[in-house]
Amino acid sequence: MQVTVVILKPSAVQRGIVGEVIARFEKKGIQIVGMKMLCLTDEMLSAHYAHLVHKPFFGRIKDSMQASPVVVMALKGVDVINVVRQLSGVTNGREAQPGTIRGDYSVSVQENIVHASDSPETAATELKRFFSENEIFTYPQFFLPYTYANDEW
Ligand code: UDP
Ligand code: MG
Repeated sequence: MQVTVVILKPSAVQRGIVGEVIARFEKKGIQIVGMKMLCLTDEMLSAHYAHLVHKPFFGRIKDSMQASPVVVMALKGVDVINVVRQLSGVTNGREAQPGTIRGDYSVSVQENIVHASDSPETAATELKRFFSENEIFTYPQFFLPYTYANDEW
């Protein structure tokens, strides 16, 4: 089992679709193991988007991510990092496939509703960045036998 980090961005919070987006992860069969609302600090964003810090548009991305509180989630499942990236769709909402979160709810590169960790390394780093150990829960998922075959997890 892997754990991945999703951020429901201000574009999700402000448009009132947080519940719908969370429902997509739940309906897929992914377990929520952590979730909270917070305001992203300058320090968090410089680390989180380190690969974009030197881009001329980093300022507007930062403003966008600080426009309101966000919801951060820790999601658990088999290959969940890839599964959640697939559910999210490609970065540009105008190019994201219909049926994906970005494809269904976004027409923007920046205002694209969700962040999702892109590798096991970033998932581990992001989990530590946004959650303390006591905010990540281990609890039985009672429908597990109906979610996976017993040799899949
Ligand atoms: N972004 C943007 N313009 C760009 C590239 C990225 O506004 O040209 C924003 C967008 O919100 C994106 C985030 O910065 O989701 C992080 O970019 P990344 O390339 O890591 O895309 P992601 O992993 O979110 O698909
Ligand atoms: Mg990324």
